[in-house]
Amino acid sequence: MKLIFEKSTPGKKIDVIGKCDVDYANLPAEFMRETSPALPEMSEVDVVRHYTELNHNVHGVNCGFYPLGSCTMKYNPRVDEDMAGLESFSGIHPLAPKEATEGCQEVLETASKYLSEISGMDAMTFQPAAGAHGEFTGVLLIKQYHEKRGDTARTKIIVPDSAHGTNPATAAMCGYEVVNIASSEDGCVDLDALKAVLGPDIAGLMLTNPNTVGIFDENILEITRLVHEAGGLCYYDGANLNAIMGVVRPGDMGFDCIHMNLHKTFATPHGGGGPGAGAVGCKEFLAEFLPKSALLEEGDEHHIQVRSFNGNFLVVVRALTYIMSLGREGIPEAAENAVLNANYLMRKIQGTFDLAFDRICMHEFVLDLSEYKKETGVSALDVAKSLIDYGMHPPTMYFPLIVHEALMLEPTETESKETLDWAADVFKAVYERGKTDPEYLLNSPHHTIIGRPDEVGAARNPILRYNSKAEVE
Ligand SMILES: *Cc1c(COP(=O)(O)O)cnc(C)c1O
Repeated sequence: MKLIFEKSTPGKKIDVIGKCDVDYANLPAEFMRETSPALPEMSEVDVVRHYTELNHNVHGVNCGFYPLGSCTMKYNPRVDEDMAGLESFSGIHPLAPKEATEGCQEVLETASKYLSEISGMDAMTFQPAAGAHGEFTGVLLIKQYHEKRGDTARTKIIVPDSAHGTNPATAAMCGYEVVNIASSEDGCVDLDALKAVLGPDIAGLMLTNPNTVGIFDENILEITRLVHEAGGLCYYDGANLNAIMGVVRPGDMGFDCIHMNLHKTFATPHGGGGPGAGAVGCKEFLAEFLPKSALLEEGDEHHIQVRSFNGNFLVVVRALTYIMSLGREGIPEAAENAVLNANYLMRKIQGTFDLAFDRICMHEFVLDLSEYKKETGVSALDVAKSLIDYGMHPPTMYFPLIVHEALMLEPTETESKETLDWAADVFKAVYERGKTDPEYLLNSPHHTIIGRPDEVGAARNPILRYNSKAEVE
């Protein structure tokens, strides 16, 4: 498939917009460019076809099954989009006077109230643009809390080895030293390992529950009690909230602050890089440290601000619509179905690839392909690539790090039994094929326009700018 720049034909344009009837501003010469930007020149139909073709060559939640563990790729109801598309929400300017934005304020306040109720928190900010950004904000709350008390000896944050990579990265970005603790056999927090590192130098603990292997840590009350006893605070990574929303609350588990990935749990299309919202909630005693959402006024200097205004407001509109359309009964029902679907799929796949943990899971589970790889030479990556040929998005690969050759599946509550049965059949077919014809899987996928892109190269040396002469041949 050609890049849009390669499809450009000099002189082609979309000529439906009238001529500009405003005089050109006279900008100082130093701000003027010397040559016109090298933008593609295309007709409207060519542009539409280009993007439609791109759309056909990617896999989204609206195309088919997307069991990308930890990412909660659930179907996003159309009504959420409809509400976010309302002119009175999408057309509002953040600097509009208060009296013109009362409806938007009410959305923020109501969303804050419901999400606080769901998470067991007392106050909230919608400023952070994603989960990782929320972690950063939340850990800054912990930092400000200790600093205000003059407790400067707390320089370390505990992060279990099963954690999402953003957790240690966040702690480090906030200036903390990361203390890794090993997980127990079942992927949960090892209480002895935790006790061994707790002390007056610990600022807090970052944890997700259910954890990254899809298991609810039954010692959670003891874990948060121990951290508090040592003077630390507890941060909850709410990326896995889909398994428990409306059933148990992080606030009741003993957590002091939390982020929720509104784009994951509360239905905003994501996976293409945003926009998202990492709503951060906290208990009353931390509320004074929350970012200030409006413009800073005099005397506000001590407030942190992690993004402009109220972050990605339309994601909050979608989340509120989602919560209100599901209601008090629907929210826990969605969580229960997410857990049911994961357990159903796990048991259907059982007998082919090994389960990393053979016990009731929450909303996701992990397969361990190390034995399979030894036997066939086929890796978790090869299996993931092969699934693409069947029209399934690959599961999360090689995460969590504590499981080798891991494939992590999260079917979500929006998939039907028929889809789950089909998915289990696909896994069985791939499993068998790898045993009899490993070569086929080693060269998968066979039916896509590109097979195995250089992922490391793409991450380390991304080409983000089209240069017709130098960078692209
Ligand atoms: C997705 C995820 C994050 C990071 O959230 P983003 O919105 O992608 O920044 C953090 N922790 C866990 C467990 C996650 O699954």
